[in-house]
Amino acid sequence: MSKKLLINIRAVEKKYSYPNQREMLEINLRKAVEIFFEIEDKKDISFNKMLPEYNTKFEGIYKKPFQPDVVVKAHKLIFEYDGFMHYQHPFHIERDNIKEKMIKELGYQRIRWPYFYQLTKETAKFIFGTLVTHFRGEQLKDIYTEEKFYKVLNQIYVNPKTHQPLTQKDYENGLLFAPGFHGTEHLPSSFNRKGIERFLKDFKWECKKQNCSCNGKIPKEVILPVIKSIQLYEMKNELKNYHCNFFYPRERKIEVDAKVLEKMKSNKKANKKQRK
Ligand SMILES: [Zn+2]
Repeated sequence: MSKKLLINIRAVEKKYSYPNQREMLEINLRKAVEIFFEIEDKKDISFNKMLPEYNTKFEGIYKKPFQPDVVVKAHKLIFEYDGFMHYQHPFHIERDNIKEKMIKELGYQRIRWPYFYQLTKETAKFIFGTLVTHFRGEQLKDIYTEEKFYKVLNQIYVNPKTHQPLTQKDYENGLLFAPGFHGTEHLPSSFNRKGIERFLKDFKWECKKQNCSCNGKIPKEVILPVIKSIQLYEMKNELKNYHCNFFYPRERKIEVDAKVLEKMKSNKKANKKQRK
């Protein structure tokens, strides 16, 4: 176990939470894009609006017009927040695939933000560094900077204990929730087959373009906490009682709080006994 899982995630027993709108939701994805792309004029970005080049291709049962979450017009880049429906609902997934083709025909590229991601440094570098460079070339390779990263963090997140804007120090002290599933029932076990395929495919993402300067693949720092969160659910055994948040740490090893671990183990034993 220790070799595979290099990330230290501290499970904490107490339930901390983000207040409304203080985590990576659609609206905050827009904020992140505005800061990373240094967008000052609102005309350069659109939110929940149709593409200017939109044509009539999107019809029939998919009649609702396609209004991408965030569009960076100058670079023809679309950022979309993928909620759990994009993994569970066959209709959503089908529509996503049609959208994908359509936006490519219109010369756009889409970058998706799954609902179980959090804006850790590694996730931010991957989305706003690697993927942006991958889709739009070397001239955009400096979109990600650490300074902007902390600015976004401060505007979007709060310290889950005090609910004050999250500072660089808070981040360094491991007070950002890790990527993964926290207190939600929308786990991969609730995904449909295509949703699971999408989930697994994302985790294997690797640049296969020739002469691409992104040089990238999805970092293990994004994948492992997600896997760990699923394991925590399994340990907890009962979804209703799930109240384990975990934070994104700096050290590179797994370290589950011993008390929590003990409690989980005893719960498991108790459950087994009950079943007998
Ligand atoms: Zn690439």
